[in-house]
Amino acid sequence: MKSLSRIRRLGIVGGTFNPIHLGHLRSAEEVYEDFNLERIIFIVSAVPPHKVSTGIVDAAHRYEMVRRAVKDNPRFDASNLEIKREGKSYTVDTLSYFRERLGDDADIYFILGLDAFSEIGTWRDYGRLFGLAHFVVTDRPTGRVMEPEGFFPPEIAGLFSRDRAGGLVHESGKRLFYHDITAMDISATHIRGLVGEGKSIRYLVPPAVYRYIQQRGLYC
Ligand code: ATP
Repeated sequence: MKSLSRIRRLGIVGGTFNPIHLGHLRSAEEVYEDFNLERIIFIVSAVPPHKVSTGIVDAAHRYEMVRRAVKDNPRFDASNLEIKREGKSYTVDTLSYFRERLGDDADIYFILGLDAFSEIGTWRDYGRLFGLAHFVVTDRPTGRVMEPEGFFPPEIAGLFSRDRAGGLVHESGKRLFYHDITAMDISATHIRGLVGEGKSIRYLVPPAVYRYIQQRGLYC
């Protein structure tokens, strides 16, 4: 496998992954192909700044589930970078790290769902994020039409202009893409709820994750 510093087109997906599910994996698989990426790294956040920390299983479990979920896919990697870092996880620190490792000429794509993107104005140093990486906002199945005009978080609207083809460009030259993915209406919240009710989560998570949750009695 290519070493990280030699990768020129890297995708990054950050999340709590409590637990990772097929919605996360399928959307990354599609972005990998549609954006011609060389690798996608799933980064497990330690203490998610935006989530109430109740019901979040230990980071070591969440990382282990991600590791097992991506093990058989050579396109994907799992990272515990944010877990090893002290304190809260901030995307701006993670993107700065990868920008430094890969150099200025590499294309880094930060991939996130529309729900997460709509709250980006609350993220630390959100203005800096768009100078560090391209952003790919995927349409999570909500039934809403993905129109930048309708779903552009007001805090960042002024940071982008349109190129001749109508694409959204930041002053750094990095781009913001709205990208449709196959709708999989799965959330980790729903999965935790099912486990709590003693119901099956088979076919919502990869088999290895299903077994891991069962064997350790997570989310019961
Ligand atoms: P929770 O239900 O606990 O809030 P989640 O299922 O939304 O969790 P996260 O770990 O918070 O999962 O999400 C990480 C990233 O994956 C976010 O950018 C989120 O928008 C995206 N994502 C979550 N679910 C899906 C899905 N079904 N399809 C595509 N992307 C998703």
